[in-house]
Amino acid sequence: MLGRMNPLGGMTPFDGDHPLDQPVATMAARVRDKDDALTAVELVQASLMRMQMLDPGLGAFLCTTDELALAQAEAVDAKVAAGEDPGPLAGVPLAVKDNLAVPGAPLTCGSKILAGYTPPTWATSVERAVSAGACIVGKTNLDEFAMGSSTENSAFAPSRNPHDLDRVPGGSSGGSAAAVAAGMVPLALGSDTGGSIRQPASLCGIVGLKPTYGRVSRNGLVAFASSLDQVGPMARSADDARLLLAAIEGVDSHDATTQTFASVAADPSASLAGLRYGVVQEFALADVPGGEDAEAAVAGVRAVLDEAGATGVELSLPLVDASIPIYYIVAPAEASSNLARFDGVRYGHRTDGAQDLESLYAKTRDEGFGEEVKRRILIGTFALSAGYADAYYKKAMAARTRLREQFDAAFERCDLIVSATTPTAAFKIGEKSGDPLAMYLCDILTVAANLAGIPAISIPCGRDRAGLPLGLQLWGPPGSEGRLLDAAEQMASATGLGYEAPRASGGDA
Ligand code: GLN
Repeated sequence: MLGRMNPLGGMTPFDGDHPLDQPVATMAARVRDKDDALTAVELVQASLMRMQMLDPGLGAFLCTTDELALAQAEAVDAKVAAGEDPGPLAGVPLAVKDNLAVPGAPLTCGSKILAGYTPPTWATSVERAVSAGACIVGKTNLDEFAMGSSTENSAFAPSRNPHDLDRVPGGSSGGSAAAVAAGMVPLALGSDTGGSIRQPASLCGIVGLKPTYGRVSRNGLVAFASSLDQVGPMARSADDARLLLAAIEGVDSHDATTQTFASVAADPSASLAGLRYGVVQEFALADVPGGEDAEAAVAGVRAVLDEAGATGVELSLPLVDASIPIYYIVAPAEASSNLARFDGVRYGHRTDGAQDLESLYAKTRDEGFGEEVKRRILIGTFALSAGYADAYYKKAMAARTRLREQFDAAFERCDLIVSATTPTAAFKIGEKSGDPLAMYLCDILTVAANLAGIPAISIPCGRDRAGLPLGLQLWGPPGSEGRLLDAAEQMASATGLGYEAPRASGGDA
């Protein structure tokens, strides 16, 4: 029934003139401008009001942090009044995926095992966004411990896609994607281990960027697979995403894998003319059931690129075909180790039914973890076990190195790679939840970037025949986020494709 109505309950919050619906740079500049009447408190209140109106139907948020947001907004307004610079994100409401630590707010990771846990410190990425003036309005829903592609693995409730409430927003950062797509916040933080920023961005018709491994600190991000995890921005445009990325990136003494990469600032001389874009044979969707619409959308963009003077370069990266098997050895192996810390002693839930230490661990974990998390722990433990580590884990790691080399070679021949983000648009809630393999295949076009440690961005790319958003993905060599964002902006203006506010689904107005 809901899917037949305007997915946002008959109301359209977007009137174009509303400060919350303007580019992030504009709203922050207005807050910083002493003579402009717009305050950070007003922006935050507008965001909280929309959350109150829209979120009951969407389930994007696990909790709101009204008091924190208003206190942060007041601090921004006080700085403006005192003539100090409150930062490039002054007063901008920000949603934070609930696997990132915000002191004073519950940290659940979408799991029952963390019930009652509140972290004492900030995740570095979130703290940096706040230092740049952002105001945290709430924590968003996710697949338990970021394992999933639909947000249906949340222990609490699935989130819904603002473009069609019967469909998933994607995952695991589905709550963040839905929050941005519905206009509740202009910016959100997600995490991407195998596609969890880009896939939900694609399914919700927004922009999502997975940075180069090491650009953004993982301190305070609850670890899923440490060699793959990256925190990144979700937004309505590439320029909005750029502002958030610029705020959160950089070396952090709490994460030894962080490095300094080339600036993400816009390059005014960047142009589509002369751009060499790679088209990878193994990303073709012609033979994938239901992949025709995404394939056609990519072809449409390629035609615009060619018209603008870019050149397509045909490439083959044979190991891309092995990226799902490699990922589903490496990621569960690391997860099985990372999740060992949830034992009923240190954090959150502790069983009532323990007889001894052994049963305390076993019962707590049995009660606290959901089915998919248990499945990953079992796969990972198996892949790392004495008799099998050589056959599975070591082989997967060797193949991962080769895959990275294939990308390195590809970027000798092109500036960036163009592909779809997902084979199909958003699927129905329940459609794949009983079939883990079908769910794993949602990431067939995203996991390779994590395995290779390279950046990739998903941008809106029109709609499928049912009117649901599709995404286009741009991949670049390590440190090339600035170039990817420039290309994303230029492609959006050349194609006219970009974020669109959710409208009626199911054929009605
Ligand atoms: N969907 C993938 C998985 O289930 C990726 C998740 C992610 O990027 N966090 O592991």
